[in-house]
Amino acid sequence: MNNLIKPNELIYSQFEYAFSIMDKCTDDYIFILDFAEDCYNISESAVKRFPLPCSKFKNVTNVLKNIIHPDDYSMIEENLKEIVEGKTELHNFEYRWKNKDGDYVWISCRGQVVLDKNGKAAYLAGRISEIGSLKRADNITGLLTDIQLNKDYKSYISKNKNAKGYLMRIKIDNFGELNRRYGKSGGNNVLRIVARILENSIANNERPYRYENSNFVIFNYNGGGIDEAKKTYENIRYAVETETENIDYKFFFTISAGVIEFSSEKHNDIEDLYKKSEFAIYLASKKGANNIEIFDKTEYVNYIKRLKIQENLRIDVKNNFEDFELYYQPIIENETKKLVGAEALLRWKSKEYGNMPPVEFVPILEESGLIVPVGKWIFHTAIKQCKFWQEYIPNFKVNINISYVQLRTSDVLNDINKCIKETGLDPKYIVIEITESGHLDMNNALIKGFYEGNFRLAIDDFGTGYSNMRYLQYLNVNTIKIDRSFVERASKNPYDFKIVKHMIDMAHSINLEVCLEGIETEEELSIFEALNPTYIQGYYFGRPVSKDKFFEDNIKK
Ligand code: C2E
Ligand code: MG
Ligand code: MG
Repeated sequence: MNNLIKPNELIYSQFEYAFSIMDKCTDDYIFILDFAEDCYNISESAVKRFPLPCSKFKNVTNVLKNIIHPDDYSMIEENLKEIVEGKTELHNFEYRWKNKDGDYVWISCRGQVVLDKNGKAAYLAGRISEIGSLKRADNITGLLTDIQLNKDYKSYISKNKNAKGYLMRIKIDNFGELNRRYGKSGGNNVLRIVARILENSIANNERPYRYENSNFVIFNYNGGGIDEAKKTYENIRYAVETETENIDYKFFFTISAGVIEFSSEKHNDIEDLYKKSEFAIYLASKKGANNIEIFDKTEYVNYIKRLKIQENLRIDVKNNFEDFELYYQPIIENETKKLVGAEALLRWKSKEYGNMPPVEFVPILEESGLIVPVGKWIFHTAIKQCKFWQEYIPNFKVNINISYVQLRTSDVLNDINKCIKETGLDPKYIVIEITESGHLDMNNALIKGFYEGNFRLAIDDFGTGYSNMRYLQYLNVNTIKIDRSFVERASKNPYDFKIVKHMIDMAHSINLEVCLEGIETEEELSIFEALNPTYIQGYYFGRPVSKDKFFEDNIKK
């Protein structure tokens, strides 16, 4: 192919004839550029689409200069010069042509040089295709898409052994809201605004691409690091602020960014970079949006570990709550020092992670919603157990912890009532423990339901949140549980001791019972029993243990 000879006049007309036939067989635009005559021959269909004078025109440079995007023109001019000078026979570019509406569309132009008898470039013949239709360019914003970015990235790192730079994922924080409020066309408008902002805010050797939905990616192929990324992001954020102000807040939006650095030695897989930039932008959104987050490996590893734990939890739930167990810790009446009940505490003996403390896996159950099925299993197991132990201690009570997520997302009252019906346990022996974390007021109706259903209600970790005694009385709470952290501090510090004393006195004065948690030693017991808490719970009287051990240690004897 490389040593083609310039055809004589007769053959040239055959060449044009072949061209006219080929033109009918493709959606691409076919072209021949004749260097000697400064003449350009292109498919009729191109004349309909682009502002070209006709399908065969002279003065090529001036005509093309008018339709090639100004940023791309020098690259094409340089290549044509090299072809004429015999320095290259290659013409393979992606660049932008202006269509008749004045919008730029991405084209892929590939041509082959045809040499004359003297070995000089006579023609450039080839085809032009619109890459928008191949999804390599986005018709809404006019930006290239990630399909093209994949190619650009590969070509950049394969050409340069020491290549470095970053990918910055950009996301419109409130895009869903914009779509709901202004419809698809309003959303598209904002995408176009953001695309223009990106084009104008980036540094040299950076290129913006449209990713999916409201996501864009900026590809820095300039060795840029975190500082450059932050600077580019600040430019973009400032331009967004200015733009929303200029359009009188007709559309109000903010953008976040997630950045991952790359180097050609470590990252030949762009999918991995997408995945990690996705994580960085997820953190940016989680931390309140309108900000930038740099990919952090430790955070990512922890996140993946949490997902794996979640998966293991899910499998155990599916396998009939395999590896879950309820432990029970004794609750002692202070006045008589007799056992009156137990707190049911969840344990998970994971095959992969071993015994994991509930402070680690309960939040994962909550995040994933698995706390709902696990919670039902807990009601069922604990209530059945309580009923069984009542054969030995008739007024035995069971305390069950219920998380805020359970209250919000499931019909807890209905679930517990089912277990009560099945077992025949009187609800007054069930103590529902809810933590005091500022969510109490949101569950007023439910709490009223517990009261009307004759359940007992305890506020766990009392003193670590915001509720006041008066409010608890209004909610018909029966018991407050004072957390071990108070006991620990109060045994060392007279001021904290006074606070615990007042908390207990005040609770009693409005007929609330008090359970003091975390009494570990005889010394602690002698200090705190004098304050007259109603109940005491702590390692001194027994650690949380399996149902069999609880029975052996506390009931059978
Ligand atoms: P919590 O409900 O306040 O449970 C009391 C925690 O204090 C238990 O920790 C218990 O083992 C510990 N504890 C009791 N006495 C002592 C003591 O004398 N010294 C010390 N250092 N600690 C003592 P555990 O079992 O690790 O549970 C931690 C938290 O996990 C619970 O705090 C509760 O918030 C949550 N949790 C446990 N089981 C469940 C459950 O079934 N459902 C829900 N939603 N949360 C649960
Ligand atoms: Mg508790
Ligand atoms: Mg507690």
